[in-house]
Amino acid sequence: MQLKRRSFFKLAAVGAVTAVTTPCTVKAWESKAPQDSYGCLVDISRCIGCRKCEQACNAVNELPTAARSFDDLTVLDEKRRPDATKFTVVNRYNTGRIDDKGLLVADFVKVQCMHCQDPACVSACITGAMSKHSNGAVHYDASKCIGCRCCMVACPFEIPAYEYHNPITPKVMKCTFCETLQREQNKPPACATICPTEAITFGKRNTLLNLAKKRLHDNPGRYVKHIYGEKEVGGTSWLYLSKVPFAKLGFIKLPFNPLPRLTETLQHSLFSYLWSPALLFTLLGGVMYRSHKKQSAHQPDNTQQPGGAL
Ligand code: SF4
Ligand code: SF4
Ligand code: SF4
Repeated sequence: MQLKRRSFFKLAAVGAVTAVTTPCTVKAWESKAPQDSYGCLVDISRCIGCRKCEQACNAVNELPTAARSFDDLTVLDEKRRPDATKFTVVNRYNTGRIDDKGLLVADFVKVQCMHCQDPACVSACITGAMSKHSNGAVHYDASKCIGCRCCMVACPFEIPAYEYHNPITPKVMKCTFCETLQREQNKPPACATICPTEAITFGKRNTLLNLAKKRLHDNPGRYVKHIYGEKEVGGTSWLYLSKVPFAKLGFIKLPFNPLPRLTETLQHSLFSYLWSPALLFTLLGGVMYRSHKKQSAHQPDNTQQPGGAL
C-alpha cells in the first residue's frame, strides 16, 4: 500500500506530538567511582622543590633522558606542564608567604594526572582506550587508541599529551599512577617512595582523606581549610593540602559535579530521543516536507487530483 503524501504528513504530525508528550525514559547518571581505591596526598607545605619525584618518574617510566639534569633547579624559574616526555613536573610559586622565622618562602607544586574518580577523559574516549581501574588508576591502552585525542580536549586539568614527534606509533602520554609497580611489585608510586620530605603519602583514598582532615584539625592556621581533590570534579585520586590558597598556586577552580554527569546525561538524552521511532518518523517527515516544498517552488504543479485530493 502506498502512503499518500497528505496522510504521511498527518502521521508525521502525530509522531511529533507523541515524541514531545511521551515521557523520555533516560536512565539517571550513575557514578562509576571505585569505592576502595588508592590515591596520593600531596602536602605542599612539605615540598622543598628538589625534583627527586621528577627524576624517579622519568626512570620508572623509561622516559627520554631529560635535556637538563634533575639537580638543575633553575628549571623552576619557568612554569612547566607535564608532556609526552615528562609525566610530572614541580613548579615554584612566590606568593609572598612568610615562614615562622619571618623569611619570604616559595611554595612548590607537583603536577601530574589527578586520576579523577569519574574521569572526563574516560567518558570522552569512544574506543575504551582510557579506563578507570578499581585501584584508582586511570589507565591508557595504546592498542585501543585511534589517536582522536578527545581525552586531551576533555581533561579539565589539561594533562594527556600526544607524542607528536613519533610518526610511526604516536601515543597519548600521561602519569600511569605507577600501576605496574603497584601490581607486580606491591610498591607505591616511585615519586611517593623517593620524596625525601614525605610530601607525598600513598594509601587508600579514604584513609588519605582522614589523614588530611586530621592535619587540618591538628594544625589550626597552618593550612587553608580545603582539601583540593576531595570534591573537585567529583573527587580525584590525588589530593592536596596547602598553606596558600590553591588559586595562587595554579590550581583551577572546578565544579564539584563530575564532568561526565553532564556530558553523558546529554548524550544519553539525545540518543534516547533519536532512537524514539516517533521522533525518527517526525524527522523523516520534516525532511520530506522540506524537499516537497522545494520541488513545488521549482516545478509547475501538474499533480492536482480531481477534487483537490492528493
Ligand atoms: S586528570 Fe585528566 S587525564 Fe587524568 S584522569 Fe582526570 S580527566 Fe583523565
Ligand atoms: S605515580 Fe608514577 S607515573 Fe605518576 S607521577 Fe608518580 S612516578 Fe610518575
Ligand atoms: S620529591 Fe618530594 S620534596 Fe622533592 S619536589 Fe618532589 S614532592 Fe617535592
